[in-house]
Amino acid sequence: MNKQHPVLVVGGGLSGLSLGYALRQQGVPYRVLEASGRAGGVVESLHRNGFELDAGPNSIAMAPELRTYFEQLGLQDQIVEAAAASKDRYIVRNNQLHAISPHPFKIMGSKFLSGGAKWKLFTEAFRKSKPASADESVADFVARRFGREIATYVFEPVLSGVYAGNINKLSIKEVMPMLVSWENQYGSVVKGLMKNKGAMGGRKIVTLRGGNASLTNKLAAVLGSDLQLNTKVTGVWQNAADESYELSVSVNGLVSVIKASQVVFTTPAYAAANALESMDHPLAAALRNIEYPAMGVLHLGYDRAALGKVPDGFGFLVPAAEQKHFLGMIYNSAIFPFKAPEGKALFTVFIGGANQQSVLQQPPENLQRQVITEVNELLGISAQPVMQQFQVWPHAIPQLNTGFDAVRQLTARFEAAHPGLYIAGNYSTGVAVPTIIRKADDLALRIKEKQ
Ligand SMILES: Cc1cc2nc3c(=O)[nH]c(=O)nc-3n(C[C@H](O)[C@H](O)[C@H](O)COP(=O)(O)OP(=O)(O)OC[C@H]3O[C@@H](n4cnc5c(N)ncnc54)[C@H](O)[C@@H]3O)c2cc1C
Repeated sequence: MNKQHPVLVVGGGLSGLSLGYALRQQGVPYRVLEASGRAGGVVESLHRNGFELDAGPNSIAMAPELRTYFEQLGLQDQIVEAAAASKDRYIVRNNQLHAISPHPFKIMGSKFLSGGAKWKLFTEAFRKSKPASADESVADFVARRFGREIATYVFEPVLSGVYAGNINKLSIKEVMPMLVSWENQYGSVVKGLMKNKGAMGGRKIVTLRGGNASLTNKLAAVLGSDLQLNTKVTGVWQNAADESYELSVSVNGLVSVIKASQVVFTTPAYAAANALESMDHPLAAALRNIEYPAMGVLHLGYDRAALGKVPDGFGFLVPAAEQKHFLGMIYNSAIFPFKAPEGKALFTVFIGGANQQSVLQQPPENLQRQVITEVNELLGISAQPVMQQFQVWPHAIPQLNTGFDAVRQLTARFEAAHPGLYIAGNYSTGVAVPTIIRKADDLALRIKEKQ
């Protein structure tokens, strides 16, 4: 490895920016290369008629180390904690909102599950498990432990809320590893939950004033000229003579080569695949195979007076079985009142994802009309929104489906064969904002040790 060159970080979304910042903190020379003209990737905040909208992450689960991180960045005055009402969450069944809780005993008291499903939940601790396959889907795991109804009406909407994913494909050990470990350790998921009560939620939800892009904008500002926009990485190879890495980059269509001591790919998997194709075809093929379903984000502003009896809360999830044209809705102004101007309310509706790709094929105006009709019907609203803003992410969130092991194995083999080259997109670190930041700090330390 040739140490006279900087570390090159490919991609200027949250993963790349937070890694750049961590390298800077470690005193490691680096540069972040971002293909587009804007840093932040899917973290994007907009302002419309006094409403503050987040087209990407809307809420961040706070941890003490994250507060310190925000303070270091000078963002402490922008942290806003969620209102108490945000603890109330709902699931739709038979066109009605039902309050839900991650606590099994509270679920037992709710009306949205049948007696049979509650019995399966209650008796889970006594159920002998059939040996699980090594790589089980969420649907199979949950059906084995709790039955199909709980898979359909609890796990499907919850995972649709996080990954916009399909539980028949998502891998349980990738997306809910603690459930697998509880089954292994205690013979029961419910017993595991009772012994690890802190594991299910409990963290404060926060947002940043100005929108969550305040975080990526701040990181980009701190990185300054070490962040290079409009710079698309098209290939990578190792220079046998001095062991440095070389990247081919296209800047406004002009192609050149930059040398690096170490290289980190934080781009989405399909983009990393294109650049890595000539170095490792099987890895590139596995990365290209990771599904990234499109997702639509529809912001709706209403006159508060028009909302009638809409319950305050975090929002609600819609199981696919309910056959609506959307996955769920966040009630932003109930969580963070400042998100809407005085006298108004703000909702953010999520559409598409792995289960509903076809919904996004129809003309956007028709889709928005349909979704507004369904939201109004569910919430008993007769007025039309006073503000609406629609955006589609063509490749929103990577799906950690069964078979993801192959990506992990090929990545480990590749990184071992090419010391100083890392695959660190959110599909390998985890998709949540706090996880990405924590993993960037860890990786910066490993990189520093090698410099
Ligand atoms: C709609 C939505 C809602 C979400 N909600 C939440 C939430 O509420 N809470 C939460 O914690 N998380 C949430 N997430 C997840 C979280 O926002 C993402 O996991 C995270 O922001 C991804 O950052 P990233 O840098 O890994 O990827 P990206 O944001 O995709 O950034 C990758 C960057 O790489 C660049 N790039 C691509 N190809 C190249 C190339 N060849 N050369 C150079 N650069 C390249 C792209 O232009 C892009 O800027 C949400 C995600 C989405 C999409």
